[in-house]
Amino acid sequence: MASVEQTTAGCTDSATTIAVENPATGEQITTVPVLSAADLEAMAGRARAAQPGWEELGFDGRARVLRRAQKWMLDNPDRVIDIVVSETGKTHEDAQLADFGYTMTALGFWAKEAAGYLADERLPSWNNPLAAGKKLTIRYAPVGLIGVIGPWNYPIANSFGDCIPALAAGNSVILKPSEVTPLSSLLMAEMMRECGLPEYVFQVATGDGATGAALIEQVDCVMFTGSTKTGRAVMRAAAEKLVPCYLELGGKDPMIVCADANLDRAANAAAFYSMNNAGQVCISIERCYVESPIYDEFVRKVTDNVLKLRQGAPQGVGTVEVGAVIFPPQLEIVADHVRDAVEKGAKVLTGGHSRPGPGRFYEPTVLVDVDHSMKCMQEETFGPTLPIMRVADADEAVRLANDSEYGLQASVWTGDVKRGEAIARRLQAGSVCVNDAQMNYAALNLPMGGWKASGMGTRHGANGIRKYTKVQSLLITRYALKREPFMFPYRPGRTLALRRMLKLLYGRRSGD
Ligand code: NDP
Repeated sequence: MASVEQTTAGCTDSATTIAVENPATGEQITTVPVLSAADLEAMAGRARAAQPGWEELGFDGRARVLRRAQKWMLDNPDRVIDIVVSETGKTHEDAQLADFGYTMTALGFWAKEAAGYLADERLPSWNNPLAAGKKLTIRYAPVGLIGVIGPWNYPIANSFGDCIPALAAGNSVILKPSEVTPLSSLLMAEMMRECGLPEYVFQVATGDGATGAALIEQVDCVMFTGSTKTGRAVMRAAAEKLVPCYLELGGKDPMIVCADANLDRAANAAAFYSMNNAGQVCISIERCYVESPIYDEFVRKVTDNVLKLRQGAPQGVGTVEVGAVIFPPQLEIVADHVRDAVEKGAKVLTGGHSRPGPGRFYEPTVLVDVDHSMKCMQEETFGPTLPIMRVADADEAVRLANDSEYGLQASVWTGDVKRGEAIARRLQAGSVCVNDAQMNYAALNLPMGGWKASGMGTRHGANGIRKYTKVQSLLITRYALKREPFMFPYRPGRTLALRRMLKLLYGRRSGD
């Protein structure tokens, strides 16, 4: 069981608690405190006091702590996976792939790459006549205190995962996990303490939405992952504070299957990437468009795959493929989307119901005869459902894929990768995979972020760490005249000589 000492240390104002339950069994695991605005203020004070020492350790010193944490995870896989499974009801495999595998990899990645991404950059000055000969440098300085607010679907990967580059850059971090999955974050705090992270550089603030709002009041930069609705509120609050804010929000990821696709791979992938983590993945395949010639066979193969999936409370590794619905209200959203589709003429090929308790489950569901009047094709379902639509050709698929307020990810499946890339470039999404899905998230050097209502900014890659820094531009004059020609006093001769010089430099090139 994760300790809550880190959270409650010195916090005296916590009036209420939240019960943490196992969604697969309905059993209560423990309770955690709801931290107040006063608690957050105190935590921020401690975090700010601790930050300069952490920054002074330098990249190598910080990398050593991150590598120790990577080793800690490798030595404690069951501890990490079991706590995620206990508070999400997901399968051990879902917890292993992302919460454990991704996070463990990310600790090593940022330990290795932070110094390179944040190294000083020298810029040429010869192409700026007035700055010629000066030394121009970009420096990336840590922002100070970062507030990370996370969702419940991947309580480590999507919460602590975003803290790692923030820490590697030399910041202090306060993480506010979802109220339904706080224990995994508390375990990460325990891990970082054991690995030698200086006290208060990383703290976890358990609580509800109000705790998240209070955190924004205290920090210099906000990294938020969650729904588009809450993302808008977070951005409004950050605007009031005038602090930078990065948003990773919802998605309605389309899958386009062309007639020349490897049908078995596409069908296996459709079943997996729509149902893994019980469909509670921001980059889940949420809708599928299939070219007419292969539609019937594709639907048959996907349905066969989905029919074989085992669902229930995980009893260990390899026992079920589809776990629980983590967040109580989500069950009704999924049911509502299926109900709405059926009322408007869709057919359920398999699934289509929630299962009676104990625990919260929705059956893996395949829908056909769907169209864009239905919620299941327009709104984020975030559950184990796959609506499949027949299209005449890839052009129609592209038009329908882009007919969405979201633009997080998309995938194209074809035997012709050149054509696949051409289709990918027409899709309005922050990331597009050809003959793959979701695996771009594992490519930590590749930026990941949403277009349209799916977000602002990116995680991973250079910007995934530079966003946690303040850019400082340095101009150093080494060889100095007593007086620059444009300085006081102004004289007609010098003014006109400068004008002639600018004409000489640009006269022949400009105005084409
Ligand atoms: P929510 O938007 O409901 O909550 C996200 C976090 O914000 C929670 O910690 C929540 O606290 C907190 N919060 C709620 N209100 C406020 C507020 N006013 N100010 C600050 N923080 C607040 O999202 P979910 O937890 O339901 O997560 C599911 C969503 O996350 C889906 O839409 C999914 O697509 C998206 N997501 C996006 C990803 C991406 O990379 N683009 C990745 C993973 C998920 P509390 O839970 O205590 O209410």
